[in-house]
Amino acid sequence: MKSYRKELWFDIQSRRELINITPAVNNCLRESGIKEGLCLVNAMHITASVFINDDESGLHHDFEVWLEKLAPEKPYSQYKHNGYEDNADAHLKRTIMGREVVVAVTEGKLDFGPWEQIFYGEFDGKRRKRLLVKIIGE
Ligand code: ZN
Repeated sequence: MKSYRKELWFDIQSRRELINITPAVNNCLRESGIKEGLCLVNAMHITASVFINDDESGLHHDFEVWLEKLAPEKPYSQYKHNGYEDNADAHLKRTIMGREVVVAVTEGKLDFGPWEQIFYGEFDGKRRKRLLVKIIGE
């Protein structure tokens, strides 16, 4: 069995951002040379998510509005976690959107359903953050 590991770094300028990382994960898959197996992609921070959904700007706006209803950023004082930090909402948003995805690798390709794309969801940016790509198989 082959095993491949890579960390991808992002310089996130804003507090919240969604990035389509499918091209980057495809590059990893090509680099790995693996044709049949599993591809795991996970955020390496507890205030960021990796998830699969549609690359459609209306939907991305809907995610932002929905997450702000569930875990509003402000007022910061509403959260016990916000003593030295102001990112309690980011921890909650990350938990809702998930930590990782696993995608089947078939005939050297990510075996997606219709419209599926992989996203990195940042909820406490303005700094360098990273995610992990791990691919195992033959
Ligand atoms: Zn925190």
